[in-house]
Amino acid sequence: MTEKRIDLLSLDTHELTGLLTSWNEPVYRVKQIQRWLYHELADDFAAMSNLPQALRARLAQETRLGALTPLVTQKSADGLTQKTLFQMTDGQTVETVLMRYLDAPGSPAEAADAAHVTRRTVCISTQVGCPVGCPFCETGQAGFIRNLTLGEIVAQVLYFARQEKRAGHELPLTNLVIMGMGEPFMKFNVTWRALEAFTDPARLGLGARRITVSTSGYVDGIRQLAEKDLQVNLAVSLHAADDALRDELVPVNRKHPLRELMRACRDYVRATHRRVTFEYALMDGINDSPAHAQAVAQLLHGMLCHVNLIPLNPTSASAYRRTPAARVKQFENSLRAANIPTTLRVEKGIEIAAGCGQLRQQMSQRAAERQAA
Ligand code: SAH
Ligand code: SF4
Repeated sequence: MTEKRIDLLSLDTHELTGLLTSWNEPVYRVKQIQRWLYHELADDFAAMSNLPQALRARLAQETRLGALTPLVTQKSADGLTQKTLFQMTDGQTVETVLMRYLDAPGSPAEAADAAHVTRRTVCISTQVGCPVGCPFCETGQAGFIRNLTLGEIVAQVLYFARQEKRAGHELPLTNLVIMGMGEPFMKFNVTWRALEAFTDPARLGLGARRITVSTSGYVDGIRQLAEKDLQVNLAVSLHAADDALRDELVPVNRKHPLRELMRACRDYVRATHRRVTFEYALMDGINDSPAHAQAVAQLLHGMLCHVNLIPLNPTSASAYRRTPAARVKQFENSLRAANIPTTLRVEKGIEIAAGCGQLRQQMSQRAAERQAA
C-alpha cells in the first residue's frame, strides 16, 4: 500500500505554512509545530500539548513525522559508533551512522553515555544505492535504486537527535556529514533543501560550519554550492590525481575529468574563501605509491585545501585492499613535505563495517541466504 499521508519533514517553512493555511489554521501554528518537531524532538502528535485537540487529530490522520523504521542497529565494541539500517515506506532500506568522540583519547569505554562525549556526528545518506559505481564502495557496487526525499534525509538526523536526547544529553548532535550512501549532488535541490532544514534556526539550527557535504565530483553541484551563502564544508572524493586511474576508481570522472573538477574547486575557493577537503582512500598497490603522492601534490599545488587520507574499508565484493600503515605514513609525509595540509582519518568502528552500504549489504545477503535455505 502506498503511503498517502504528507511527510511533515519533507516540508519547508513556506510549504508547511501553505498546508496549515489551507486548513484555515492561524500562521503561528507553523512555529509551534516546528518547535515540537525540531526542538522538542517530539515523535508523537499527542505530545504537542499547545495544539488544539482537533488539529492534533487532523495532523495524525493526514500527515506523519518522518518515514523511517529502524530495522537493525550495530554498535562498535567501544560503544561509541552506532549504525542503524532504516526501512522506508516502500520497503527500501538505507543506513545512517552516529559517531561519538571523547574529550580525551583513552577515556574509558563507558564514557559513551557520559559527559565525556564532546562531539556527536551523524553520517547521513541521500540515495538508496548510488549510480556513480565506484568499484571499492559497497554502495556503488549495489547499484542505484532511488533518491531519498527531503523527509527521509531529515528523519535520519532526527532519529539520532531523539535517541541522544532521550539518553539525557543536553546537546544531542554537534556535527553532520553527508557522506553516507549516495551522491548528494546528483539531486542538488534536495540536498540543498536538507542543508536549509539543518541550518534554519526554526528547524534543526545547526551551525553551517559543522556540516560537511561530500561529492564524488559533480561539478554542477560544486558550482551551485559556491553561489549559496552558507558556510558548509565541501569535501571532494579525489582518490586519484590522473584521469586514467580516476576514470576507473571514481567513474563520474569520465564525464567530469580532473581538469574540469579542479577548475570548479578553484573557482569555489575563490568565490567562498573556504578551503576544500580532498578525500583520498589509500588502496594497496593502486593509488598509494610515492609517484601518486607527488601527482596529488602537483594537482593541489597552491590551493586552499586539505587532504584527508582514508584507510580503505575493504568491502565484500571488491579486490581492493588497504594500504599497509608504513606506506600510509610515507604518503602522508610526502604530501606534508609538499606543503599540502594532510590528516589521516580516525577510524570509527571498523568492526561493525562502518563504511556506508555495508550493513545494508550484509542484511540483503542474509535475506538471500534465508530464501535459498
Ligand atoms: N558519494 C559521495 C559521498 C558518500 S561516500 C562521495 O563519493 O563523495 C563518502 C566517502 O567515503 C567518499 O570519499 C568515498 O569515496 C568513501 N568511501 C566509499 N567506500 C569506501 C571504502 N570502502 N573505504 C573507504 N572509503 C570509502
Ligand atoms: Fe557513490 Fe560515493 Fe560510493 Fe562512489 S563512493 S559509489 S560516489 S557513494
